[in-house]
Amino acid sequence: MNWEIVIGLETHAHLATRSKIFSGSSTAFGAEPNAQANAVDLALPGVLPVLNRAAVECAIRFGLAVEGRVARKSVFARKNYFYPDLPKAYQISQYELPVVVGGGVAISLGKTEKAGEEAMEKTIRLTRAHLEEDAGKSLHEDFRGKSGIDLNRAGTPLLEIVSEPDMRSSAEAVAYARALHTLVRWIGVSDGNLQEGSFRCDANVSVRPAGQREFGTRREIKNLNSFRFLQQAIDYEAQWQIATLEDGGRIEQATVLFDPGTGETRAMRTKEDAHDYRYFPDPDLLPLIIDDEWIERARAAMPELPEPRRRRFIDEYGLSAYDAATLTSSLEVADYFEAAVAAAGGSAAKPCANWVMGDLAARLNREDRALAESPVSAAQLGGLVARIVDGTLSNNIAKQVFEALWNGEGGNHPKAADEIIEKRGLKQITDAGAIDALLDQVLAANPSMVAEFKAGREKAFNALVGQAMKAARGKANPQQLNARLREKLER
Ligand code: ADP
Ligand code: MG
Repeated sequence: MNWEIVIGLETHAHLATRSKIFSGSSTAFGAEPNAQANAVDLALPGVLPVLNRAAVECAIRFGLAVEGRVARKSVFARKNYFYPDLPKAYQISQYELPVVVGGGVAISLGKTEKAGEEAMEKTIRLTRAHLEEDAGKSLHEDFRGKSGIDLNRAGTPLLEIVSEPDMRSSAEAVAYARALHTLVRWIGVSDGNLQEGSFRCDANVSVRPAGQREFGTRREIKNLNSFRFLQQAIDYEAQWQIATLEDGGRIEQATVLFDPGTGETRAMRTKEDAHDYRYFPDPDLLPLIIDDEWIERARAAMPELPEPRRRRFIDEYGLSAYDAATLTSSLEVADYFEAAVAAAGGSAAKPCANWVMGDLAARLNREDRALAESPVSAAQLGGLVARIVDGTLSNNIAKQVFEALWNGEGGNHPKAADEIIEKRGLKQITDAGAIDALLDQVLAANPSMVAEFKAGREKAFNALVGQAMKAARGKANPQQLNARLREKLER
């Protein structure tokens, strides 16, 4: 039988606020356990939550970015459950009236190896996004059979983003998660740090016979904090469900965990339903009212978004779909690229793209540095590319200049490349007379190679080019050198 896989994701993104959502404690990662937990986070009797305006601002920005509806009125609710790292025994969340309703996230998939999966673009619809607080952490190591509780994370603001069950493969789910990850970082609402748990996905997975209208029963894989685990977990889970059904078994709704060690999912508990949580509006908090003026102010402060910017890179600079997607993988990369183009001149977009994605990315990668820490600024790189485009530098010599820029030679200004070229005498030789003179010298000095070429050995041609380049200390324009040499030999 042919099976169709159905996936919906619930994603938790830590919001990039300095303090917690209902208390003044810091949200900074990595402090001593419980150093950042105040009376509110500890749920001492008599304390009251106070909503952090910055968290609401993040939710508004997100709602605008996904073109959802920002609710003029939303309500905080108590979600009741007991957990050792949840001292109130309820989590403040939103239930019936979330702050963002609807919207969507565009994804695109390249052609994949698997037959039948063509390149495609589609929009994953969002159900809602709501504000809530994170819980603390239970620490099970280093306590000799006991557990420790760290409440630093308790009360960290989260945006839970719930998708419709619109994805049909693990590849689509990963594309969606990546697009969402790019988006929240792009608009500055979350640092998206996967290692620190600032961006985690729960994947709801079900399968159904191809052509069936009703969805199958889903199981929810909790807390996936890497795109690779997301893919592996969904693939394993879907295959497990298909095998179970084909064996005549039934799928029971459940919450499952993915074990990266074994690559398997296993049931943690049967799935609770909403009524198990006894949701009710939190009497300690007023309804959240967002007026038009607030929304318009937020709208005015929004950057150009990744999707329109990607399309603009294709239209305005003539970049390929691949280049445009790569250069809009983060706001920093997109800004860097455009600043380099501005410095190099508009017609240099393609070589700028190549340098940003090629030499620069490789060099940063080699030293494990982020783009923000690049010693070569966008203006400097643009200045370098301009000298390739105008023929001053060959690509090979340009790599030398890049290395010099990287090491701080030429000083920290846009014309640094020119200074290095001047100081080191790296200007490409394009003067026809100079190239001719060089070639004549090389031909005279290598009569045996010339004879070999005339006897039909093409290899001898390359050897002569090599000799000439050496004589020019790498600076001769390669195209001119090649063309002139051939003319001379075939004369
Ligand atoms: P809950 O809050 O109890 O987890 P929801 O109904 O809000 O349940 O759904 C949570 C997620 O599960 C959503 O992302 C939704 O798209 C997804 N989902 C719902 N039904 C299915 C299904 N049959 N198969 C796969 N995903 C599903
Ligand atoms: Mg859920």
